[in-house]
Amino acid sequence: MIWNDSEADLRLAAEQLRQGKLVAIPTETVYGLGANALDEKAVASIFRAKGRPTDNPLIVHIADVNDLKTYAEPNEWAYLLAERFWPGPLTMILPKKDVIPNIVSAGLDSVALRFPAHPVAQALIRYSGCPIAAPSANISGKPSGTTAEHVLHDFKDSISGVVDGGRCACGLESTVVSLLGDHPVLLRPGFITPEQIREVIPSLTVARAVEEELPKDETVLSPGLAHKHYAPNAETVGLIGDAKSVSEYIRQHSDGESCAVMCFDGEEGYFAGDTVLSYGRRGNSAEQGERLFSTLRQLDEMNISRIYINAEYGEGVGLAVYNRLLRSCGFRMIRV
Ligand code: AMP
Ligand code: MG
Repeated sequence: MIWNDSEADLRLAAEQLRQGKLVAIPTETVYGLGANALDEKAVASIFRAKGRPTDNPLIVHIADVNDLKTYAEPNEWAYLLAERFWPGPLTMILPKKDVIPNIVSAGLDSVALRFPAHPVAQALIRYSGCPIAAPSANISGKPSGTTAEHVLHDFKDSISGVVDGGRCACGLESTVVSLLGDHPVLLRPGFITPEQIREVIPSLTVARAVEEELPKDETVLSPGLAHKHYAPNAETVGLIGDAKSVSEYIRQHSDGESCAVMCFDGEEGYFAGDTVLSYGRRGNSAEQGERLFSTLRQLDEMNISRIYINAEYGEGVGLAVYNRLLRSCGFRMIRV
């Protein structure tokens, strides 16, 4: 079933959520695979549908800042961040209240909360009367879904339906900040940048796992960071450098196999002869972020054995794009 954003359709979709069914919802970041966060059985079906490891907790979506204290124990930082960035693409991790079932938090005593900006997501939370647990709407480990078509491709037979809210504006998942320790820690970069958060909380640090692969025996602060992620089916290699150096590297290393290149807009000419898709202009990370997952999904449709991605190391939103690409290519990121 595909619902649109009319009042009548939103009421129907909200009723499905209330009944414990799975409904995919648009947000400003990516599509979410939603269920009533207070209904254990409904939440269990999210994990089943995605094939998500049960040690990876879910984000709970709310539509009222007051619900911070309904579901968690907010501190001063939480209110500062909520005032500045909510509704919006920022998730906060706080000590959890007992009303949130353990399955949502994967057994942790903390919970991740977000108040999304997308009007459709807000309407569904209000009409259903439930907080909505929603991880990104993709089969676990694959690129996130940023259109209703992507969602149906992955979940046609396992959900009640998707509410089509158009293409997601950010295209990258929310920024995740843990507020559990002595100082706030950014666990996952997103559209809201570390620099913006430091304007409100100067002591914010960035978890090491954001930019590098941690040794196998090191505990990660966020279970999701430990899992393979955003990966296309093909073997994928990231290359940092200008288009000319990247094309020379590819010429030296590809051994006649069907390979594809994900490059920057306007630089396609350097890769004549290869299958080429561009994902935004060099230096424009907002544009790259918006198109990243849909481009990776397009490549998956082409049955290609190797993908080279021309990447940039960036600050701001660029850090989020780099973080996703690093995982897409299983940390094989080479400077050329
Ligand atoms: P997604 O599948 O895109 O919704 O990912 C949600 C992210 O938030 C994952 O990286 C989770 O591991 C992380 N997360 C959710 N809840 C918590 C929590 N209580 N503590 C730490 N990380 C969390
Ligand atoms: Mg995800």
